[in-house]
Amino acid sequence: MPSCDMCGAEGKLVRALVEGTELNVCSGCAKFGKAIPSPVRFVKKQKEVREQKPESLDIIVPEYSRIIRKKREEAGISQDDLAKKIAEKQSVIQKVESGQMEPSINLAKKLENFFKIRLIEKYDEKGGALSTKRKTAEFTIGDAIRVKQKGTK
Ligand SMILES: [Zn+2]
Repeated sequence: MPSCDMCGAEGKLVRALVEGTELNVCSGCAKFGKAIPSPVRFVKKQKEVREQKPESLDIIVPEYSRIIRKKREEAGISQDDLAKKIAEKQSVIQKVESGQMEPSINLAKKLENFFKIRLIEKYDEKGGALSTKRKTAEFTIGDAIRVKQKGTK
């Protein structure tokens, strides 16, 4: 267990500049010096700024009522049976099957699991099917420096 260079306390240490000397100190002692941010944390911060989460929407497939009714009839169970099995009201199942009510994402997931069917589709903000491809390029410290220079010129 590493211990604080100033008081000897064990635990999570931070690098801090205390009177011109770089020390590993505990959070309590860190306030006496100037904290030195580690390069790793710097990169992470830059990455968070640049990273954009893809906006995606869960869409219930348009033919949900037909799919659910067909699957239920194939399974040979009544609306009431189905309602009990997935802990929903029979009236909810009836409305969903008749197309009067679109199932909630939560209900759709229960039906998906129960019937092994697909009722939810993911769409991105442009309305197209969401690509599973993601940018995995590593953001290096070099990139971080270039971005910083660009931003502060
Ligand atoms: Zn300390």
